Amino acid sequence: MLRKILWGTAGLVTLAAGAALVWGPGYLESGLNRVVPHEPYTISAGARALHDTLALADLHSDTLLWDRDVLDRASRGHVDVPRLQEGNVAIQVFSVVTKVPSGLNYDNNAADSDQLTMGAVLQMWPPRTWASLYERALFQSHKLHVAEDAAPDQLRIVRTRADLERAISDQAGNPRLVAALLAIEGAHALEGKLENIQGLYDAGFRMIGITHFFDNELGGSMHGIGKGGLTEFGRAAVREMERLNITIDLAHASPAVVDDVLAMATRPVVVSHTGVQAVCSNNRNLSDDRMKRIAEGGGLIGIGYWQGAVCDFTPAGVVKALRAAITLVGIEHVALGSDYDGATEVHFDTAELAILTEEMLAQGLTEDEIRKVSGENVRNFLLKNLP
Ligand SMILES: [Zn+2]
Repeated sequence: MLRKILWGTAGLVTLAAGAALVWGPGYLESGLNRVVPHEPYTISAGARALHDTLALADLHSDTLLWDRDVLDRASRGHVDVPRLQEGNVAIQVFSVVTKVPSGLNYDNNAADSDQLTMGAVLQMWPPRTWASLYERALFQSHKLHVAEDAAPDQLRIVRTRADLERAISDQAGNPRLVAALLAIEGAHALEGKLENIQGLYDAGFRMIGITHFFDNELGGSMHGIGKGGLTEFGRAAVREMERLNITIDLAHASPAVVDDVLAMATRPVVVSHTGVQAVCSNNRNLSDDRMKRIAEGGGLIGIGYWQGAVCDFTPAGVVKALRAAITLVGIEHVALGSDYDGATEVHFDTAELAILTEEMLAQGLTEDEIRKVSGENVRNFLLKNLP
């Protein structure tokens, strides 16, 4: 009898584990990367005509974290290549997340827990990724390279200005081609080793966020416990990133880190996904003054589509945030920074981006302004700052 119960229990555990492996990650993503249910958006003929001529660019999506092939159109999440094509996205930054503390919040997170260890196991990532943040970054880069190899006419990872120039010229004859840039969300992925910056560079990464939700070896997070400035290692890392022409991303960085980076940076930096205090005052958005200083150095401010960034996250609310950012830092320094697939809820996925064009026209932006914010500013920034 006991034996029967034991075998029964073992069977149930195996079944549960199997089920989690088969549909667990997808189920998990469906609950985390949501699109608010809505009727299909109505796009006016004028907005559609303009949108069809745009080459959009987005500074931040976390798509590679999830258990799906970016080449397949998914019924969950926000970004994949077919939906990028439908949205007329020419350049997508794919950022990799390597550690996620439990109880995530905007105010204070300790660094001593990590939900992604279970995520890596459940999604059957290679065992080398289970205990190594650096390997998790390399693995997600590998996933994007595998997709590129399978469909080079649809997805191309750009590493240099020349790569991007070639991709732009190829897009003229092949509008299905999406240029992709690899980025890292939080430099804890360096595991405290300066030489790993070169390793990440070699793997294709061209943008690095100093911190994510918790303080790390480089410095404080806006959402960390200490929220301090750059450490000595952080300064050395900034110098090394600048040497390699890797763009520094100050999204999630503590105000003290922002000040320290701006004091020493010789190249423009970005805030890849954010809002502005002018329309959404909370501990996710940097002060207006810091945003201005970032822009004055030639930087870009990417506006996100989720509630924590822009408060009102309807299409009209996102455009209101874009307008506030334009007023604050100037039209040349504002970009799209969706935070798609970043455990965010949004009102439109990347296939539906024409609704932003519709709203920008409705709120009085000129065609020239829409072109800049939708993509030209990012394209020009990369053409200037990539190696
Ligand atoms: Zn983020």
